[in-house]
Amino acid sequence: MSDTTQPVRKGANMPLLTSKEESRQFPPVGTQARRQFIVAAVEDFSRLYRASGGDVEKNELLLRSADHLNCSLFHAALICKDPELERLLFDTRIHDLYQDIVMDDDFFRQPLSFVDSVIGGLIRLVGDLGIAGAQHSRLHPFVAPLLRRAPALWESIWNRRQQLVYATQEEHQIVLSPSEGPAHLAGEPILQLLCVYNHFHGARAGSRSAPLSSYVPHVALYYPLSLATPEIPYEIQDHAWREALTCLPEAVRDDSARDALVRSVLMDNITASFADVFFGRFAEKLQSLPDDCGTNFERAFLALQTYRSLATCPLLHGALLAHEIHQTMVHAVSRVLRSNLDAQTVKTMVWADCGLLTGSLLQALIDSTERSRSSLDVYLRGEYVISEVARAVDLLSQEGVKLGPLKANIPGTRFENPVEQRLLDINRLIEALKRHKGRGSKPFLKSMKDGAMAEWWPSMQALQTVQYRLSNSPQRHMLSGVLRQWENLGKGLGLGEEEERKRFRREAAHRCSWYACEHHRSAPDASVVLKKCSGCGDSHYCSRECQRSDWNKGGHKSQCRRLKDIT
Ligand SMILES: [Zn+2]
Ligand SMILES: [Zn+2]
Repeated sequence: MSDTTQPVRKGANMPLLTSKEESRQFPPVGTQARRQFIVAAVEDFSRLYRASGGDVEKNELLLRSADHLNCSLFHAALICKDPELERLLFDTRIHDLYQDIVMDDDFFRQPLSFVDSVIGGLIRLVGDLGIAGAQHSRLHPFVAPLLRRAPALWESIWNRRQQLVYATQEEHQIVLSPSEGPAHLAGEPILQLLCVYNHFHGARAGSRSAPLSSYVPHVALYYPLSLATPEIPYEIQDHAWREALTCLPEAVRDDSARDALVRSVLMDNITASFADVFFGRFAEKLQSLPDDCGTNFERAFLALQTYRSLATCPLLHGALLAHEIHQTMVHAVSRVLRSNLDAQTVKTMVWADCGLLTGSLLQALIDSTERSRSSLDVYLRGEYVISEVARAVDLLSQEGVKLGPLKANIPGTRFENPVEQRLLDINRLIEALKRHKGRGSKPFLKSMKDGAMAEWWPSMQALQTVQYRLSNSPQRHMLSGVLRQWENLGKGLGLGEEEERKRFRREAAHRCSWYACEHHRSAPDASVVLKKCSGCGDSHYCSRECQRSDWNKGGHKSQCRRLKDIT
């Protein structure tokens, strides 16, 4: 099949099967009757399928029987905790037949109702019977054979991935259980199958007998990417992404599995534009911060982590630069860290996680200054390296918190605080870049200096003030390490304390007076309207929030003349 031909689902508009009416008759009353009913459904389907010789399309009896069996298994799983029924089902080898059918080359070209019924039935076996069996840690008969064939099953689905197409909910007639999410968003059964295999693995995690088929994450990542067209409603695409992201973390945990996944899904020749879609989604996630930091935080953070883990792959560094992901990320982190959000854990988690991407890009640059004498691997801009670390320095000086663990970039060095580690890395990079005579080092240093012109002096002043106030507390020791590295950063980039102090004082009337505000940092901008503090007339603020922050956290309360006049 050529990559430009859109596969067409045959029989998508065939008359509705009677599954919904029939399903109301389920279950037959009485254990014995129920067992017979379900086993008969399996035998009926097996016989009709074998007799069809794989010719399914016009075989009305077979199509009905497939649907009927799917419904029967659905009800069996919902209502039965009947080990005898499970044993009887196992003896029919229905799990083998289902897997054989899915692995047939023509499977995804069969009528949609048939595809749905077979996948639906397999979901019942893997999802309901298999997972339940694994969770109750008894030797469920389905567990071993399903797991044994999972890698081959998913590899064969992966090889036919271009046959996976989207069908509307009206076209699908599969029976869904309410636990599988809102029915109108259930989307493709193939995604549900992915999720149950993923859960199945999760339920057996720790057991060597249950390796996650390496193709589960491949298909999980491929599917939402392939849906990214304007014809498919956004909420369906979004749902597909969320399902896919739950299947990926396992696969991005170690570097070689991550790189293999990126290489085959995002770098595939046929799917070159997939990287665009992927980074588009990543940027979208970042842009929704800090709004997502509320009740949805755990889910949003998992998604962010997954995108970030994939994006950290060196194969994607070029695309990362082209899509300006690093700066989008630093803007997002800055918004979170500058927000009034009263959640230090959230702030430090977001900073530390995004810092892993910065760390990996910095490391690529550090490595290339050591390796290459001509050109450098520059995948990020210097000013964003500075502004990201400045936000963390400001958080430290405001809250005095320890930021969460950040992977140390230099083996053998462990700092009490990851911000100190990051600053040390940057300072070493600055020295290496100064020695480097090749292309790229000067512009990068210049860009870092531009960042430092905005960030260095205000953050330094705040650190010094806090350091002074802390006198003998243990936090003073931690902060003094950060302060030392921050001083070195400015000096390394050629900034002087005295000049910077004067420059900021000279321009004070044109900057917001809250030191952590972006309008305090960046060069004065005439379009930003500043309002004077009515108490003293000396301070200027771009917003009420800045005025409040400076009053409560910046010490303006004790400086403002209004207060002095009262006392
Ligand atoms: Zn402001
Ligand atoms: Zn004032």
